[in-house]
Amino acid sequence: MRISHRTLLAAGLATALGASACTRSKSVAPAGAPTPNAGRPEDTEVYAPVPRVVTPGAYVSEPAPADAIVLFDGTSLDEWVSVKDKGPARWTVANGVVTVNKSTGNIETKRTFRDYQLHIEWRIPDNITGSGQARGNSGLFMASTGSGDGGYELQILDSYGNKTYVNGQAGAIYKQYIPLVNAMRKPGEWNTYDVVWTAPTFNDDGTVRTPARVTAFHNGLLIQNDVALRGETVYIGQPSYHKHGPAPIKLQAHGDPSEPISFRNIWVREL
Ligand code: MG
Repeated sequence: MRISHRTLLAAGLATALGASACTRSKSVAPAGAPTPNAGRPEDTEVYAPVPRVVTPGAYVSEPAPADAIVLFDGTSLDEWVSVKDKGPARWTVANGVVTVNKSTGNIETKRTFRDYQLHIEWRIPDNITGSGQARGNSGLFMASTGSGDGGYELQILDSYGNKTYVNGQAGAIYKQYIPLVNAMRKPGEWNTYDVVWTAPTFNDDGTVRTPARVTAFHNGLLIQNDVALRGETVYIGQPSYHKHGPAPIKLQAHGDPSEPISFRNIWVREL
């Protein structure tokens, strides 16, 4: 059967197919060929299809169940460290929420995880400014694989009427998978993510045995349906895997100048 490029785009498969083609060409690239991560950020920005906007139902609280590890209960960041120096996480805890302190950088959990179910709530402030990627940018790194932004990012951004490349809007597996819908609540209101993370597994020689898989809900709406990740998130170039074991969960302090966002009610159930 002949499948048009348009059909592939509509099915949301173009990114995945492009990735496998790139992976193949990378593995046979002759010495001296450009490195896979050469290029410009714009080369991996995707602008279609634009996810349909769906207004979610009313916010419903999801308190931690009995078998969950509570990562943030509104009072302390004892479960977290600063990524930079592994010292205490220095984001601002007040009134039951934690607000990003951009000057202190990313934070990650002290514990490491393999497969899990995670709940997290996040809020763009109602006085948010900026546009595109510079408006409430943060991120949930489902596994942190190194300093800075190393890992696999589920994007957090103000996508309420804010246009950007669709594989970089809220709910995107950054630069890999467009969210199925745009379920964003307006600034000042709480959003929820519920994520099922299946960690990648590796062979002894470092090659991938099974890729990471993600299912995710934004405000109760399915946004990622058991997608297989192409590797770790990268801003420029094509993703690739690097063998790792159990990993922390990381939250991003993005360098854009917009007002910092807040989080609350973070819990995880190991699977
Ligand atoms: Mg981000």
